[in-house]
Amino acid sequence: MLDLIIRGGQVVTPQAVADMDIGIQGEKIAAFGQPGTLAADSARVIDAQGKIVIPGGIEPHAHVGIPVPPEWTGHADVMTQPPEAATRAAAFGGVTTLIDFAGDLSRAALSGQRRRSISETIERRRDVFRSHSYIDFAFHYILAGEVRTDTLGEIREALNEGIGSFKIFTVNNPVRVPNGHLWTVFAEVAKHGGMMAIHAEDEEIVQFMTKKLQDEGRDQGHNLHLVHNNLSEDIAFRTVIRLAKETGVGIYFVHVTAKEGVTAIEEARHAGLPVYGEALHNYLQFTCDDYQKPGGTAIHTYPAIKFAADREALIAGMMDGRISTTATDEYTTFKGPKLWGDTIATVCGGHNGIETRIPVAFTKFVSERGMSLQRFVDITSTNAAKILGLYPRKGAIQLGSDADLVLIDPNLKKALTVNDLHADSDYSIWEGFPCHGYPVMTILRGKVIVENGKLIGSADNGRWLSRRVENSVLARPAV
Ligand SMILES: [Zn+2]
Repeated sequence: MLDLIIRGGQVVTPQAVADMDIGIQGEKIAAFGQPGTLAADSARVIDAQGKIVIPGGIEPHAHVGIPVPPEWTGHADVMTQPPEAATRAAAFGGVTTLIDFAGDLSRAALSGQRRRSISETIERRRDVFRSHSYIDFAFHYILAGEVRTDTLGEIREALNEGIGSFKIFTVNNPVRVPNGHLWTVFAEVAKHGGMMAIHAEDEEIVQFMTKKLQDEGRDQGHNLHLVHNNLSEDIAFRTVIRLAKETGVGIYFVHVTAKEGVTAIEEARHAGLPVYGEALHNYLQFTCDDYQKPGGTAIHTYPAIKFAADREALIAGMMDGRISTTATDEYTTFKGPKLWGDTIATVCGGHNGIETRIPVAFTKFVSERGMSLQRFVDITSTNAAKILGLYPRKGAIQLGSDADLVLIDPNLKKALTVNDLHADSDYSIWEGFPCHGYPVMTILRGKVIVENGKLIGSADNGRWLSRRVENSVLARPAV
């Protein structure tokens, strides 16, 4: 007996795009049928004719409810928006799973004065989301600084407990993990089957350019791309790839920003290495020229938005498969703190992003460039699920998968305004962006959570997700 039927939508499955009925039993996809053929009995029926039905979006890169560095805002107590707000916005934007971060980046931890186990740190982070999330959630685990032997010894257990991926920075001392430690971490994660999520910039280039621009009086925020520059990305990506080749670990480069990064990933994949790249949706739209506009650094997320040629390389990579996922680096504050810092050392990173990714990507790729619906689903859901260990529970419309479904109206046109959005914020970098196609209904594990512009889910719907990356994804480029 079915509980819910999505009737007659254009459904995007791993095998095909076709008009069909989807039958849901409890939390799972339980049946498919020709349009109008699944028997309703006592099931609720949702008419999806004229709509595209995709698997719920997966946001692979979000920073929710964390302290914002005071040097970015001038205040000691600014936090990014809490889980209730971020996951509410996500639900309206067609996102049913977000992957945030766990890790202890406190001064006490970084200086070695305090040490918490990986398990305890994850449990504390789960507590922040539990009963406060409208959608499902998981965490990359951040390893920072010189990684201690006892922490290294916990990697295996953490992977067995369902942490599918570890995040490291190659920049921002003392958070940066030095290369020797990186080599050791990669080897340990490779041995036990996990993915490395990497923020890759070259520390020395960034430090050098920061000092140089400050000395020359050119340290205005609109010069961020000269600090976090193309050469820095090239050097850092290639160092990481060399260490990955040495150890056999899988690499997921978060926020690829430069054509050099796209090329480094392409070459690594040609050589058969399991290397994957993510692009943020603001990098697919803006260039560093936009930093010059009034309030222009609102678009900024670290590393930095670069030139038109870099934007075009990212778009081309998204179209042809060299880049695997879209993300947002969700990091929402209000406009005041976001625009407080105006120098290369003080501009606030991140932006109000999680809700706009799917409509922006649909508009830019499907409506404007004719991307296939299956590729669109790959870059908004399936690839993140595969690379980060959620597939096939998430990321696919197929029998037995979670019934996370989003209905997109491909004909809905609107110029975005901040009033359309549902974050705890008062600005959007997408103000005026002409959307062509928009999510109109979101279903989480068989429960409708957004319908007719209303949130009808509850903040205790979201669950923590255990992840395990498939060996095939860690052995070679699988998506
Ligand atoms: Zn980030």
